[in-house]
Amino acid sequence: MKLLKNKTVIITGASRGIGKSIAKLFASHGANIAFTSLKRDENVIILEKELNSCGIKAIGYVSDASNFEDSLSLAESVINDFGSIDVLVNNAGITKDNLLMRMSEDDFNAVMQVNMNSVFNLTKACLKIMLKQRSGSIINMSSVVGVKGNAGQANYSASKAAINGFTKSTALELGSRNIRCNSIAPGFIETEMTSALGKDKIDEWAQSIPLRRNGSPNDVANVSLFLASDMSSYVTGQVINVCGGMLT
Ligand code: NAD
Repeated sequence: MKLLKNKTVIITGASRGIGKSIAKLFASHGANIAFTSLKRDENVIILEKELNSCGIKAIGYVSDASNFEDSLSLAESVINDFGSIDVLVNNAGITKDNLLMRMSEDDFNAVMQVNMNSVFNLTKACLKIMLKQRSGSIINMSSVVGVKGNAGQANYSASKAAINGFTKSTALELGSRNIRCNSIAPGFIETEMTSALGKDKIDEWAQSIPLRRNGSPNDVANVSLFLASDMSSYVTGQVINVCGGMLT
């Protein structure tokens, strides 16, 4: 069963990692995909081809999610190219980890700007069309560290906690217009973002997780599919942990 047939989806930061898995799964469920990246590199061209070969329409846009004007013009282009915006996945995110004693103001601000402001920017940009359609599903990529905190990630966990607050407020404001908004809080997911930790550390992590494995991008994509589809039509304002039981 195709759960997203003819729906138009925007996914930010989708040229690799979790965003890419979401794009591929959504395309296999019949969604038309508008995805973004910071530059048009080989990854974008390959993904665009792969998605279009599923028999749906896919376009990769160069757009900085942390920039308000970029986000407004992205939404305008997507409406021109696709005619609607049914699902927004705010996936783009960065880390600049350090202990507080060593964390610079620039690194604090950069993480807040990319992780949190991008969610505001894209939500604002897509709101008008979703209100007009009287439907929409917004999915914000948070993190378990936004719920529980993490030493060495004060900037990152603050940005993800802010996303959770934004998600709940958006759900309360827009529920009456049939626009849903939820967060996903992944635990440890093996992507380019986490590969910097090294194989030994990554394997060690897996042993501390109740399901005894790290997550894959597809684990997060599956929950995103549920939240994007009408299967979750009575779910809004929630933060859903996808963490193998790491945070219970
Ligand atoms: P990743 O680094 O592999 O991918 C992130 C993508 O976002 C990259 O393609 C990057 O170029 C893009 N991006 C960064 N800044 C951008 C901007 N300003 N505008 C547009 N695109 C931008 O990371 P990932 O592991 O796939 O993570 C995806 C999301 O999931 C992030 O929000 C991350 O914080 C969150 N997350 C990841 C994990 C994990 O363990 N991997 C855990 C919890 C949450």
